[in-house]
Formats: sequence, structure tokens, C-alpha cells
Amino acid sequence: MSEHSMTVVRLDDVPVADREQIAAAVQDLLVTRGVIIPNDRRDPLWQPSVWMPGPQSRTIVDHTDWFDAFLHTANNGVDISVERDAYHPVENDEVPRCLRCDAKAPADYTDSYAEWLEAWMSHGQEPSFVCGSCQRSAPVGDWNGRFSVLIGAPAVTFLNWPPISQRHIAELRGALGGRTGIVFSHW
Ligand SMILES: [Zn+2]
Repeated sequence: MSEHSMTVVRLDDVPVADREQIAAAVQDLLVTRGVIIPNDRRDPLWQPSVWMPGPQSRTIVDHTDWFDAFLHTANNGVDISVERDAYHPVENDEVPRCLRCDAKAPADYTDSYAEWLEAWMSHGQEPSFVCGSCQRSAPVGDWNGRFSVLIGAPAVTFLNWPPISQRHIAELRGALGGRTGIVFSHW
């Protein structure tokens, strides 16, 4: 079965103590509304997540026609990560686009992918790229890339959920604070 996920991740560096506070705020937002509840039947293969859909989970998604099927899907939990991690789009992988002119990121994005990803993960150096078309220079998180890899913390990941509404994504970004990005993965 093919699976998908959506992650909203904070991109700029946050001290560890603050990360925990921010992750708790995101958790509160979701728990208070009944969007998630603790998963009391965790299973490493079928339901590995700490959180599962709550009684109000339907209120944050756009398309509810396959919602009942979703509730019975394996691996439909929510993960809230405090630790820095890399979020890969896997099969969705695409080069991000310039936010100003929509041109694709330059060749060095792809050519030096392994190197900048390693430097970002190990040393916290988010790479910047210069648009070959309009010369705009921006860190990779400020390119239009919901199908491109991002690294950061905290993050919240919805596994195999129907599309989350724009309004709710905006609220999650607000709770995460600072610069945030989104990664849609498919595998
Ligand atoms: Zn451009």
C-alpha cells in the first residue's frame, strides 16, 4: 500500500529548552480541540505513532468523503518531534521553485544535494541558492518547495491523513513560530 504524510516543521534554530515548550504548545493545540488523542494501542508496524485521530479530527481536513476509511487505515497517527530531523518527500521529490519568478532552483541544488544536506543536518547550515533566472538569493526553506527536503525542529507530521485545511496549517505554523516549511511525502 502506498503511504503519504504531511509535515510542518520549524526551520530556524531553536534552543533545546524552547523546542520542548513549542512542541508542547503544538500538542496542546491539537489535544484541546480533540484533533488527536493518545494512542493506547501502539504497534510498531500498524500504529507506531504516540497520537491517533481524535473525535474532532474531521474538523481540520478539507475532504471528508474518505474520512471513515481513513479512520480505519493502518498508520494514521500524528507525530510531534522535538529533535531535529530531515523530512524527505521520498517519491514526491522535486526541485523547489523561486518564490519570485517560479524558476526551478539552480543546478547546484541537485549537483551538491548530498553535501549541503549533510552540512545542514550535521552543522545546522541551511544552504542558500541563487535563482538563475531573477538572481534572488534565499535559504532553501524560503523557496517554494512543499515536495522538497527540509530539516528542522520541532515538527508535526500527519500520517496518511486527508488534506489538512489551509486554516489549520496556518494555525500550526503560528504555534511552531518563526520560519516554517511544509513537506508532502509519498512512499
Ligand atoms: Zn527567480
